[in-house]
Amino acid sequence: MRKSIILSAIMTAALLSSCSGKKTVSSYSSTYEIRVTSAVMDSGSEESSSSTTLSRPGRTTRTTATYTASEKKESSETSTSAEKKESSDKRTNSGYTAIPQANTTAPASQNSKPSPTVNTPVSGDPAPKAASAPDGVDISRFSSALPGISITSDSKNIYQSGTVKGYQFSLTIDLSKWAGNTSPDQIVTASQLFWECYPRMYARFGTVSAAPRDVILAIENEGYAPAEASGEFVHIHDSWLRDNPDDFDCLTHEFAHVIQNGWDGDFCGSSDFIERFADFCRYEYAFRSGLYNDSCWTLWSADYENSIDSSNRFYVWLDYTYSTPSKDIMLDFFRVCYEEKYPSFQWDKAWQEIFSGSALEGRSIDDVWNEFAASDFAYLSADTSYGSSELLSHYDIRSRLA
Ligand SMILES: [Zn+2]
Repeated sequence: MRKSIILSAIMTAALLSSCSGKKTVSSYSSTYEIRVTSAVMDSGSEESSSSTTLSRPGRTTRTTATYTASEKKESSETSTSAEKKESSDKRTNSGYTAIPQANTTAPASQNSKPSPTVNTPVSGDPAPKAASAPDGVDISRFSSALPGISITSDSKNIYQSGTVKGYQFSLTIDLSKWAGNTSPDQIVTASQLFWECYPRMYARFGTVSAAPRDVILAIENEGYAPAEASGEFVHIHDSWLRDNPDDFDCLTHEFAHVIQNGWDGDFCGSSDFIERFADFCRYEYAFRSGLYNDSCWTLWSADYENSIDSSNRFYVWLDYTYSTPSKDIMLDFFRVCYEEKYPSFQWDKAWQEIFSGSALEGRSIDDVWNEFAASDFAYLSADTSYGSSELLSHYDIRSRLA
């Protein structure tokens, strides 16, 4: 008898056009898969090592969700199909793709970190001994991510830990498969993104899902590009930020998948909701209030993304228009998805629960969609090519967030 838990969550996002082009707007072809199986495991097998970092005790569900979106251009410009089928098919054909090995070999255990090397020395103490750190990386630069942050390192990893919003978090930056394509500056920025975005998403949503507070970010010159998430593990291909230097917020999207902590698409209104929520988070919690995100990724209008399964903007509108200090409608959306209260075919009831206690109480999802589709919010350009977007000029979407 073997017993194991294998969980693979694959998020793929194939951004075809370089984000460096300010007028280029791309969307993702995404596949998100989680597979959980229960069996008995012989110790020492590959499955055993996988379960070390990927299992979620108490959740033995299986989710498979696929989302594909085509690249579009705003306004009257012609939509252009932009799927990167090659990569996506490679994963979906098998139905299961092994998680990067770093997932099982990275020193994920938060109890086995090396001694601190960057903490402020006590006055009079000798200067700290030079830290072991990945080649070419000055770990002292990582202290800017958060006041009071603790940093340690070894030859392959950088470890950060700190407290935000009353919660202790840690980030392991795994550089064991880093080939130097992602610059040290970009690695510093990626760590800053984590500390800016993840704790905020956690404080709003992650307590509901018991999301990990110890997260691993692996920058690897192998595996899937641009990025994927599984459990507490996020992989970004080493070439991605080199080739798409504005696309830091693909990581915000991945961190949102970590916050979801294993949504089952069979218990969402659509399996696409998994990606819609991650993209909703990407827009609302975009790093440095959209400085990078909005130059290479945006919200499409309701002309193009014209259903609750495809429109990221709908969720931003729903949150902006109907969340109040006493009724967080997207938190209730998150809770209903995570708690698997309603199978997909019963989501009319789910929406009723989500709308309960809000100004939408008693209305149908179709009715609410029609209200959105008739609003200017649904059509204002989110393009920032010429400064602040029309959408953000009319609606102060981000500054209201905690
Ligand atoms: Zn995703």
